[in-house]
Amino acid sequence: MRALVVNPHERSVRVVERPAPRAPLTNEVLLRVLDIGICGTDREICRFEYGTPPAGAQEFVLGHEALAEVLAVGPDVTLFRTGELVVPTVRRPCSSARCAPCRAGRQDFCVTNEFSERGIVRADGYLADLVLEEERYLVAVPNALRDVGVLVEPLSVVCKAAEEYTLLRERFAFEVPHPRALVLGAGPIGLLAAMTLSADGSETYVFSREAEDGPRSKLIADFGGHYISSRRTPVDGLLQRIGPADVIFEAVGVPEVAWAALPVLAANGIYVLTGVPAIGEPMLGDLRGWMRNMVLHNQVIVGVVNAGPSAYQQAVVLLERFLALFPQPLRALLRRVPLDQAPEVVKRAVGTKDVVSLN
Ligand code: BGC
Repeated sequence: MRALVVNPHERSVRVVERPAPRAPLTNEVLLRVLDIGICGTDREICRFEYGTPPAGAQEFVLGHEALAEVLAVGPDVTLFRTGELVVPTVRRPCSSARCAPCRAGRQDFCVTNEFSERGIVRADGYLADLVLEEERYLVAVPNALRDVGVLVEPLSVVCKAAEEYTLLRERFAFEVPHPRALVLGAGPIGLLAAMTLSADGSETYVFSREAEDGPRSKLIADFGGHYISSRRTPVDGLLQRIGPADVIFEAVGVPEVAWAALPVLAANGIYVLTGVPAIGEPMLGDLRGWMRNMVLHNQVIVGVVNAGPSAYQQAVVLLERFLALFPQPLRALLRRVPLDQAPEVVKRAVGTKDVVSLN
């Protein structure tokens, strides 16, 4: 079978032939991979800035955003049947007895950092014709989501953020009237977050670099959001232009932008960080003003990575809802390429969400 492998030692990214997996045993499921989404993490891995091969290996298979079809099931599998669509989850638990989250099946909150992530750290990914996976790590996807199901994994990160945000909102014994949201970044995570907020009835603004008459601005208007370009309004002019936001969803991974947007956060506001900045020099800002504001206005900052089982389930539900509410902008996120173009696409984006179609 074909697979796209990254070798950080040789600094190579290439399509190779690998032996096909054996037949599934016990609770294993053999999957035929259909689509693999490519994200910023994959591109960092392909620049050899991130990513770790499994123990003892020099290279690993890329790909963690997958949509696949069940090809065969082991004798003890009860949840899936041949022909069904599934999305495999990314993170696998560490083995420490002291890691309460991993022992509880919530490896997205792992405290040891010794988890593995398929296609990212210490485990092969899914960018191959066939993969073997345990049934407990698979999420069922209805056939109606065949063309957009590859978005379940990135949307699961947004859904985990939404779970945290909803819990934090429950600290109020009142409704926030006309909630307003600011999303920083118009990449796939930013756009999926904006769709989620917009579908939930928030007045949603998306801030990014593209011009205000560009295609992303139109796409955002198509699902009811508003687009603000940094070319017209610098980040420190955002508060004046749009007013305070009850939630800020950060999806750029640039600390300067995240910091400069803080004044936009309303009293009692929730600031969700999902972007992972590259390692670099320490930075300092107006810590005094920041601390005063946070305390005097009951604000919350929360970091969110990966996703748990409920967020994956919710992502499936939400994708069906998006497909009913705004099918056109949802489908417009995706740009498909065949496997032989994957080595270029992992280096340079062509669409908003590039997808490698295998089968
Ligand atoms: C993936 C997450 C993962 C994170 C950190 C993201 O691109 O979607 O599942 O936990 O990278 O490696």
